[in-house]
Amino acid sequence: MITLFTSRNQDENVMFNNLIKKFNVPYILCNRLSDKCMLELKNETETKSFSYESFSALTYTEMENILGYKMISMKEAENIVFNSINSLNEKALPISEIKPGLVLSRDIFSDVNNPSFRTSMRDGYGWNTNWKQTTLKIKDSIYAETEKTETFSEGETCYITTGGKVPDEFNTIIMIENVEEKVEQNSVIINIKPQKPSFIRQIGSDMKEGELLLKKNSILSPYSIGLLLSARIKEIYVYDKPTVSIFSTGNELIPYFNYEDKGIVDINSPIIYNRLEGISYIETASILKDNLEDIIDALNEVESDVIISSGGASVGEHDFIKSALLTCGYTIHFCKINMMPGKPFTFATKENKFFFSLPGNPVASSVLTELFIVPFIKKLSGYNQYKNKMIKATIDFDANINESDPRPDYQRVILLNNRIKSTGNQASSTVKSMCDGNALICVDRKIKRNEIVDVIVLNENNLYDDRLKIGVLTASDRASKGIYEDLSGKKIMEFLKEQYPDNSIDIVYTVLPDEIEDIKKLLKQLCEEGCSLILTTGGSGPSIRDVTTLATLQIIDKELPGFGELMRSESLKVVPTAILSGQTAGIKYTNNKGTLIINLPGSPRSIYECLTAVWKAVPYCIELMSWEWIQTKDCWKPKK
Ligand code: AMP
Ligand code: MG
Repeated sequence: MITLFTSRNQDENVMFNNLIKKFNVPYILCNRLSDKCMLELKNETETKSFSYESFSALTYTEMENILGYKMISMKEAENIVFNSINSLNEKALPISEIKPGLVLSRDIFSDVNNPSFRTSMRDGYGWNTNWKQTTLKIKDSIYAETEKTETFSEGETCYITTGGKVPDEFNTIIMIENVEEKVEQNSVIINIKPQKPSFIRQIGSDMKEGELLLKKNSILSPYSIGLLLSARIKEIYVYDKPTVSIFSTGNELIPYFNYEDKGIVDINSPIIYNRLEGISYIETASILKDNLEDIIDALNEVESDVIISSGGASVGEHDFIKSALLTCGYTIHFCKINMMPGKPFTFATKENKFFFSLPGNPVASSVLTELFIVPFIKKLSGYNQYKNKMIKATIDFDANINESDPRPDYQRVILLNNRIKSTGNQASSTVKSMCDGNALICVDRKIKRNEIVDVIVLNENNLYDDRLKIGVLTASDRASKGIYEDLSGKKIMEFLKEQYPDNSIDIVYTVLPDEIEDIKKLLKQLCEEGCSLILTTGGSGPSIRDVTTLATLQIIDKELPGFGELMRSESLKVVPTAILSGQTAGIKYTNNKGTLIINLPGSPRSIYECLTAVWKAVPYCIELMSWEWIQTKDCWKPKK
């Protein structure tokens, strides 16, 4: 807040006024106290006086520093934001209104025993294991809805369905499968006598009256709602979700329902709306002009618990949010954080209202929404675990900070199978990076490919849908009959596990006899099932039963002869008979993705030498056939 002491000199007053407007700082006009024209800037701890000259020489940053608006770290900002919540609102809710996602504000205890009567677990006949008689007269039928029943003495029984109330005289149910029904005599004979009482659910065996069902702070799920209903709970206490208002600010903005108009389509308020729907009650989402009066009016009108604005957050000529906040009596806790994208980020409070001012660039506002606003709203809604989940994963690219602006950079990344890839262009206007990414990493130093880094998980869907599937096929008449153990297939799998130590692959392993049609059928099936790679062993030699290479050549779309050439030349170093091998490799395409099929020799000893020779090219080939890039222990990829 600025106190401007009026001067006798009108010109100076006008000049001060203009400067203050330029900085967008609200001010109070006071009567002058001294002869000298003065201007005071006050923050919580100090007051600084300026002459016109010294004031006009201030930069925006100096001005902000004087007002106490220092750039703070992410950690400090998190502490301020998350510790600003002092209390949560609780409300009673009738059972008809409960929904998954609500958080319980009190423990819930069962009002009833469940089941409330001894219940049959099978369709069968009632009996008592203390009885001798096994031929029983049928006296009654009890269904799940039957309330009143007969009384029974030894030698009498009744038919009881699953869920039916079991009369006290019986301590077991004999399943219908274990009795012989004598229709004419209206009786049954027990064929198998039970060893001990069975198939009766006792009163309260699922839940007892007074038993703790759900703990305070549990998040309701469809199943916990089922549990509450079965306990006949009529009313529960939950934390009330906060109400939210969302404003996009900018003279250039048009709403999406006026697409035809000139301007930039407002996407921030729809993004934030959709992100917060379900975890809050959204009262308004609209566009405001870059106009101090309009923003002040909007702030004075809204009654929501949480108010979020985007745009106009920085120090530009049209950035009025901070001025409006101060004018409306908000306390600004910080307005700059040391990160990107999104340095100009303001958090302000007034009584029980919380205000977040986000930058206008959609990625900046989205990243800050994920890092601050969603967790904040979850905390307000009673979530114990409100912060984003953090995991460790291996980075698949080199990441670096901007040397001329070394703020920690929250880059959007794709997390898959514990590996992270970049989403490409990281400009704060490129919304695609938010769509493609499901996680963030904080790049605050040079990070080298293959380092393990902390990952902030934003979207837990689709994290593990992309495991690489690899087929391993041993073609051997003798191994398939079990005459000897398939050591070659085992060696291939050992090699693969060394290449993918983090278990990011699924291996489909098969042993077949040397029958060309069977081998072709299996190869095609593996391609269709989504194998990116198939490694075969056996059947590449000159004998009449060696048909694996033939089968491969008959089903592939494209041969890659380099594999065979390299493997033969490697094997030739060991045995002169290597030239007898016809082994090759090729690609079969299914749904625009390729499967690389490589024939390896049959002998277990040659598996490693051949695979090691060709492997470096395999991961890159897999990527070129439209699969995800997965780094392996040994691999090579040309630099882009
Ligand atoms: P500002 O933070 O207001 O300076 O805006 C920075 C950039 O983000 C400008 O290019 C704006 O046009 C753009 N922008 C601001 N608000 C929005 C919005 N709600 N939707 C789309 N783009 C926006
Ligand atoms: Mg703007």
